[in-house]
Amino acid sequence: MNALEVQLRAMIAEEGPMSVERYMGLALAHPQFGYYMSQNAIGAAGDFITAPEISQMFGELIGLWAAQTWHLLGEPQPLRLVELGPGKGTMMSDVLRSARISQQFFSSLDVHLVETSPRLMQAQQATLAGSALPVQWHRSVTDVPPGPMIVLANEFFDALPVRHYVRRDGAWRECCVMVGEDDRLIFAVAPTVEAAITNMASEGEMLEIGAAGYQFMSALAARLAAQGGAALIIDYGHTVTGFGETLQALKGHQYVNPLADPGECDLTTHVDFAALARAARAQGLIVHGPVTQGAFLREIGIESRAQALAKRANERQQGQLSAALARLTEGGKGMGELFKVMAVAVPGVAALPGFSNGALS
Ligand code: SAH
Repeated sequence: MNALEVQLRAMIAEEGPMSVERYMGLALAHPQFGYYMSQNAIGAAGDFITAPEISQMFGELIGLWAAQTWHLLGEPQPLRLVELGPGKGTMMSDVLRSARISQQFFSSLDVHLVETSPRLMQAQQATLAGSALPVQWHRSVTDVPPGPMIVLANEFFDALPVRHYVRRDGAWRECCVMVGEDDRLIFAVAPTVEAAITNMASEGEMLEIGAAGYQFMSALAARLAAQGGAALIIDYGHTVTGFGETLQALKGHQYVNPLADPGECDLTTHVDFAALARAARAQGLIVHGPVTQGAFLREIGIESRAQALAKRANERQQGQLSAALARLTEGGKGMGELFKVMAVAVPGVAALPGFSNGALS
């Protein structure tokens, strides 16, 4: 049994069953033993691979998106360019390289990274050491100095903890984690009823509520509405709120039991884009999309970028480029359909690049 599980069991022994939300929060972000604090998470040698790690094209195109969005926002100066949960820092490094396409944009940038893991912050510092612009780190987005922002978030919202409820004996009850008869951590159902949830559903139906994500989006949207700017959110998820739960655990690129070895595997859920959109609209922002990642990347030019890179590449590199293009944009085993892209922005801005086909429903 690892050190985090010892602590979780002590909490359960003292306070009773622990909500799924608290379990997920501690497994990911316990200051000492949380997953992001202690593990080599991202990349081929880690537990999962993300779009910026698949190809430089991803971050480069996001950089071009940011430059065009800045123009549509009326070219505010300075612009706080903020990334949430930057992982290894690869995306921001690619964004800043392509941002140089517009000297005016590049010279307006004031770059801020928001990261809670000291370990990943170090990785980001190493990646961005040679960056042409100074970069500042914060533990919270509220520490970014005031002013218009463009916020980038790739695979950030999926890492925020969720609450689970199950319909049992004609009422909604919260799902929790406790120690089972075989002395392992198990999922259980709280005896108390959640009277505030009024949705009707059949017995056994589940409900996943991303309260942390909703609150995060709500606060971010309030700031954007007051001070100007836009946010680009890319993640796997669904565009319509529905029943069911999507908690998953990944270790070494394999699905594992989310209750086994807490803090040693990545726990995520599919993002409820409809809920994030409601949070943003409630603060007065306009929602663009969501669209599929494939549609977004094609519209902002990934195919021509791949062709341009291929011209300077040898045969092996050309093979890698076309494999990366397929993985980023195609459905099936690719990320192109599962991943969605949504932007939220202040009103009065023309259609943002990548969203001209309207929203998925
Ligand atoms: N965007 C990166 C990494 C995704 S992993 C990529 O695409 O490769 C999730 C990232 O979010 C990690 O850097 C993790 O440490 C960070 N993170 C998770 N919860 C956070 C929070 N509440 N505040 C800030 N960063 C957080």
